[in-house]
Amino acid sequence: SSDEEGGEEYLFKIVIIGDSAVGKSNLLSRYARNEFNAHSKATIGVEFQTQSMEIEGKDVKAQIWDTAGQERFRAVTSAYYRGAVGALVVYDISRRSTFESVARWLDELKSKLKMQLTLNIAVRSYAHSDTTVARMLVGNKCDLDNMRAVSVEEGKALAETQGLFFMETSALDSTNVKTAFEMVIRDIYANVS
Ligand code: GDP
Ligand code: MG
Repeated sequence: SSDEEGGEEYLFKIVIIGDSAVGKSNLLSRYARNEFNAHSKATIGVEFQTQSMEIEGKDVKAQIWDTAGQERFRAVTSAYYRGAVGALVVYDISRRSTFESVARWLDELKSKLKMQLTLNIAVRSYAHSDTTVARMLVGNKCDLDNMRAVSVEEGKALAETQGLFFMETSALDSTNVKTAFEMVIRDIYANVS
């Protein structure tokens, strides 16, 4: 790009998906506000939080969307995915069923983003294809190692076969939370800059 230093701004939409109670809302509140809630209920009304970081002297903003509990009804709306260029697919390392749901979430992500492509020709030239959406598989609650039901190796292997980044995190003790979000943001930036 030929813009003067500091003259450019970026805004990337990132979605967080995964089964209910895997820690999606707490990952976001830990990243955006450094807060954790042990008794969190689905927050109604708050759709996303915006967090800035600097990359190569540019102000890069991530608008990170939370499902607000829609996933309990197995119906996350298309509007939720619209315009997303990054996704964190989260499971809980202490609940195997949430790991087994990952394939379904990846399918949903793929089909909802594909639908956008056919509906909106304007975005066709931009970064909305499968390969350019930055995706990370997140095994959350790694602080619960004594209750582990999914090994690190299994997480890694699934991520590798699906072409995703992989990281285990803890929204409770902050392990890797910032790193996970920032890896996704940096990857999106690398794809568009
Ligand atoms: P969501 O339904 O995916 O948004 O999950 P929440 O963020 O609401 O979290 C569900 C429950 O798991 C809450 O009781 C959280 O306090 C708890 N939780 C979330 N993240 C972690 C974590 O990293 N470690 C532990 N031990 N508990 C967590
Ligand atoms: Mg939630």
